[in-house]
Order: sequence, then structure tokens, then C-alpha cells
Amino acid sequence: MKRLEEAYPPDLAEEWDRVGLIVGRPSSPIDKVLVAVDPVDTILTEAIERRAQLIVTHHPLYLRGTSFVAATDPKGSLVHRLIENGIALFNAHTNADSAAGGVADCLAQAVGLEDTRPLIPHTENTGSGRIGRLAVPMPLRDFANKVAQSLPSCPAGILVGGELDASVSTVAVSGGSGDSFLTDARRAGADVYICADLRHHPASEHLAGGRPYLICATHWASEWPWVPRCARMLQESFPKQLEVEISRICTDPWEMRISPENENR
Ligand SMILES: [Zn+2]
Repeated sequence: MKRLEEAYPPDLAEEWDRVGLIVGRPSSPIDKVLVAVDPVDTILTEAIERRAQLIVTHHPLYLRGTSFVAATDPKGSLVHRLIENGIALFNAHTNADSAAGGVADCLAQAVGLEDTRPLIPHTENTGSGRIGRLAVPMPLRDFANKVAQSLPSCPAGILVGGELDASVSTVAVSGGSGDSFLTDARRAGADVYICADLRHHPASEHLAGGRPYLICATHWASEWPWVPRCARMLQESFPKQLEVEISRICTDPWEMRISPENENR
């Protein structure tokens, strides 16, 4: 926990956020850790199968508090299964978004950005999102294809909005839901903004004003590049004491995407 809090300082977390040890006893010995994006049932099952005693996730389990952890509720059931299997749960959320080497940095690196800096700086190298440039400018269409090849594959894929043949070089990124940084990405002079979960009206109204064009990944795919980086950090910190494993299970809610090819419009 101390090492995780050094890498992702809790005081970088947003005020509304909940980060740290969710379930577990700090004195319990551990020798195997599983790192993942979401604290959900499939990830817990994976941790049980791999015999991990700690799951480190990006997302919190309870963001707004709860009155019940009864096993009749999906989250309550998860709490029960964690305790019954002797598995602790720890999360680093907006503190990991903001930190150097965190979620935003990992997404920027995954899509090949250079000279990156925080989009909304907290300090010189911490803050929300990142902005950087491509080594070589290219058409939006080609860059979007490169992004699709760089992010982990998932059924829902990515969506692209803007002028596909226009050349782009300055790119802003923010892992996870990205509506709130659209204006910042424009103000910073980005040609493209990569995030997830964009909705019809904010995206459409934004694009009516021109750049940055939009690349909308899924929430899981945009944040997953942090998972191997966090696992490597932990593994290098405890080379003998810990075995650190990476979850590759896609925890987006979407199992299938269909692009209709019919005459219905
Ligand atoms: Zn997220």
C-alpha cells in the first residue's frame, strides 16, 4: 500500500473520489497481486483462479457510500466473496489519472505521443489528461487506425468524429469519460482528442465548432494501458516477494458490436 501511495499519491485524488484499501487487512501476508481496471465479479473470479491475495484496480467499488453490504446485492456479494476468499481490494482512481506514469501518461504513450504535458496541470508533470504531438503528422483516418491498433482490443471498438482526411499532429488524451475536458482540449490547441464515453450532444455540438476531432474509445480500453505499467512498477519494487499479474479480461459492459448494413434509412 505504501508503494502504491508513493506512485499514486492519494492527495492527487479529486475531492469526490474514494481511493485506497477498500477491503482487506493491511497486516495480511500477500505474495500474488492481480492488477485490473474494474472491481467486478469476472476479475474477482480471475483473482481466485490465479490465487492472488490482492486485487489492485483503477475504479473504486463504492463511490457514493452504501448502507448495506448484504450478499443479495451485486456489490455486497463482491465484498462477501473477497472476504471469503481472503482477497484484499485496493484502488487508485483519479490519483492514478493525475500522477506521472499514471493512466493519462500510459494512454498518451500507448498512442505514440511525444513531448507530453498535463492538459490541465496540477504540477509540471501531474494533472488531468495529457497533450503531446505525433512524431509525424498524418491524416485523422490513419491516426485513428493507429489508435485502434495501439489500444487493447474490445468488442465495442472505437468511434471517430471529424474530417477523416485532415492532417493532425497535436493530440490530447484523457482516459475514461471525457466530456468535461472538451473545452480544455480545444483551448490547448489539440487537433484530436482521445477519450471514452462521449455522448451525442456534447460530441456533436463540440465538432460543430471544429477541432479537436474526436476519437472515442471505450472506457476500459482507454484506461487499460495503465494496468501493465502499474503491474511492472509493483513487480520491480518487490522482485522477490511478489508475483504481479495483469488482467487482460475486457470489463466493458459491451459484448458485441453490430454495424448494420441495410437500407433502413
Ligand atoms: Zn475510469
